[in-house]
Amino acid sequence: MSENHEKKNLRTPIVCVMGHVDHGKTTLLDQIRGTSIVKGEAGAITQHIGATEVPIDVIVERCGDKRLRDKFIVPGLLFIDTPGHHAFTTLRSRGGSLADLAVVVVDINEGFKPQTIESLNILKRFKTPFIVVTNKIDKLYGWKSNPHAPFLTTYKKQTPETQALFETKFYEVVGRLYEQGFSADRFDRITDFQKTLGVVPISGLTGEGVSDVLMILLGLAQRFLESALHYNIDGPGIGTVLEVKEEKGLGTTIDVILYDGTLRKGDTVVIGRLGEPIETKIRALLKPRELAEIRYESKFKQVPKAVAACGVKISAPGIEEALAGSPVIMATPETIESVLEKVKKEIADVQIQTDSDGVMIKADTLGSLEAMVHEFRKAEIKIRKAEVGDVSKRDVMEASTIEDPMHSVILAFNIKTTPDALELMDEHPSIRIFTNDVIYRILDDYKNYIKEREEELEKLRSDTLIKPGQFKILPGCVFRQSKPAVVGVRILGGVIKNNTDVMLPDGTVVGTVKGIENNGKKIPKATVGMEVAMALDGATVGRQIKEEDILYVHIPESDSKVLEFEIFDTLSNDEKETLEKYLAIRRKDKPFWGK
Ligand code: GDP
Repeated sequence: MSENHEKKNLRTPIVCVMGHVDHGKTTLLDQIRGTSIVKGEAGAITQHIGATEVPIDVIVERCGDKRLRDKFIVPGLLFIDTPGHHAFTTLRSRGGSLADLAVVVVDINEGFKPQTIESLNILKRFKTPFIVVTNKIDKLYGWKSNPHAPFLTTYKKQTPETQALFETKFYEVVGRLYEQGFSADRFDRITDFQKTLGVVPISGLTGEGVSDVLMILLGLAQRFLESALHYNIDGPGIGTVLEVKEEKGLGTTIDVILYDGTLRKGDTVVIGRLGEPIETKIRALLKPRELAEIRYESKFKQVPKAVAACGVKISAPGIEEALAGSPVIMATPETIESVLEKVKKEIADVQIQTDSDGVMIKADTLGSLEAMVHEFRKAEIKIRKAEVGDVSKRDVMEASTIEDPMHSVILAFNIKTTPDALELMDEHPSIRIFTNDVIYRILDDYKNYIKEREEELEKLRSDTLIKPGQFKILPGCVFRQSKPAVVGVRILGGVIKNNTDVMLPDGTVVGTVKGIENNGKKIPKATVGMEVAMALDGATVGRQIKEEDILYVHIPESDSKVLEFEIFDTLSNDEKETLEKYLAIRRKDKPFWGK
């Protein structure tokens, strides 16, 4: 670290790599980690627990322009080793994300995929500065690779045909970004990275364009994050639990990304769990062993202290219930009370507000739970319960008590269903569990399920529900007087079905429809505008009914309530009009009929 950095007291910005599966996140991270080791610079890159630190010197070296060295005041970049939006949301801190910057990887040959959009949505929500890389340019037809070259250098060496193919594919991605609300362009054409999203074409495999990625990340950190990166090297250590892990010989340990201050062996720390926070003493601080030290039995070596920003493993008693995504804060006898309160409050803030009814949401970490609840709320889905943990027998039991089939569901993100819960599921076939590792797939699956259920219910209802209808007996069209009467009618509104009772405008029921014919063919129902022959059982023309009479379908009170108060919006205009006339008749003497 140069004096420059120490004077400024800027910590290393934390970077997350996100994007769709198989688009090359791991390969890019390997590329960033690997090359300088290959060049014999091992040690320059520091392997942390769960993260890799690339110092500014290594980046400058890769870019081949030493003059850049003094332009930067951030000490380097700390890449989180686990790619994906999962790590991003787990690494929450103070309601935001711990990641200062992100890289979204898109396979230029495949374009946008579900997790690409999910990553963009999450970054938008957290307002995290990021860049997009269009990966695998080496796979474009005719591409001649120039390993580790900056993008523009390798681009200029391609044939005009390959360049044209590249442009087409590249601007497809830019177009998709635009659809998502981002004005984006190739990094070298951008003057203001605050207004325009930078897109860097790369190959994670050959390293082309990777130095550009590192430079732009540094630039972004410097320009937009300077204030956020100030830290207090002597202050209490503050971090976030990345993972809770069993280690042979160590028992339960927590992998922590430390983003402020210093932690020392023997320090008291407060760690979040559901309910009261954990208060414990650090038994050991562990870092990965260098490759050269492989002969040791343990993969880890003890260190006396850890300084932000870094990844470190903590071994301490009583941390079994620590929650991934929760804070870890060092405390002294003077601060312990306030730190306990602070951690408790932070966990309570995530104990998401729930409704009195709705679905059950379960997720693996606080961060992903938060993200899920956010997406479901946005889709206006009610949530009865939101919890961290696998789907348990208790959850299934609880879901089985919910009557509404739309709500007797469990939406599970990135977790398992325990065997006894699965067993219980067999006894309750109506309960549904939707599980996936992409939030919005769960959301889509659930929405589809709701739609199917609603259609089923609607069909069931409309098959049995008596709908409004009115018709007029046409003059000169009495074909038979009675038993049954057969008359020509015009349907004025709604629908007339076989076997429905009909009534006069004064409310008297005069008969039942016992057959409808259109041009000599029997039909089950007649709709508005049609002129048909109709058999009316129970009525005699000249007595109860006569030519020019207007008759209505007799709707029972219970069906009328459904029509008026539940599905009125789904009726056609003539059905609405007919229903209103019908209600006026029924309510003439009884104002509260059907209410
Ligand atoms: P992740 O799931 O996003 O982490 O994707 P991986 O890094 O595991 O990559 C998926 C596959 O794509 C692997 O077979 C990689 O070797 C391959 N791959 C990744 N990046 C590149 C690239 O730039 N060029 C080529 N040709 N293949 C790549």
